Amino acid sequence: MLIDLSEVLSGNQKTISRDAKMEMKEIHLSQGYFPVKETSPVSLNIERIKRKELRITGTADVRVQIPCDRCLKEVDVDFHLQIEKHVDLDTDTEKPDQELDESNFIDGYNLDVDKLLYNEILIGWPMKILCSEDCKGICNVCGQNLNEGDCDCEDTSLDPRMSVIRDLFKNFKEV
Ligand SMILES: [Zn+2]
Ligand SMILES: [Zn+2]
Repeated sequence: MLIDLSEVLSGNQKTISRDAKMEMKEIHLSQGYFPVKETSPVSLNIERIKRKELRITGTADVRVQIPCDRCLKEVDVDFHLQIEKHVDLDTDTEKPDQELDESNFIDGYNLDVDKLLYNEILIGWPMKILCSEDCKGICNVCGQNLNEGDCDCEDTSLDPRMSVIRDLFKNFKEV
């Protein structure tokens, strides 16, 4: 969904408030696609500070389904987004280029709500997802979900100390 910023950029209005909706159905990351299950309405407040400088504030709740790192069961993860952005659309001043990246959710005179929220979700993306703290994971041999019952394989991964070590390795690789 796009919000027209021309009223506030032209100075006709100092502040506008808009109720928007996130329309993105999936969060696309290099690790895969994660379905968006629920989103609250997004209330945005857009204030012109001076010339083309805007302050954008608002809140939104988004629920995304992400698989458990150990057993791959889908887990509902709630993101409580607190948006607080300060952007300067005046590109011909001496502002450094990195400022442009920051405002990739603004296209001409429109604010792209999906892109704005997507950025915020990425910032808040958890390092680790577990369906429960003591998730037993899946058997390396037969693929049985060990939370649902044991299998007959002889596998040391049943030992909780082993899964701690596996997690350590995993975190290590991600760095
Ligand atoms: Zn799990
Ligand atoms: Zn097994």
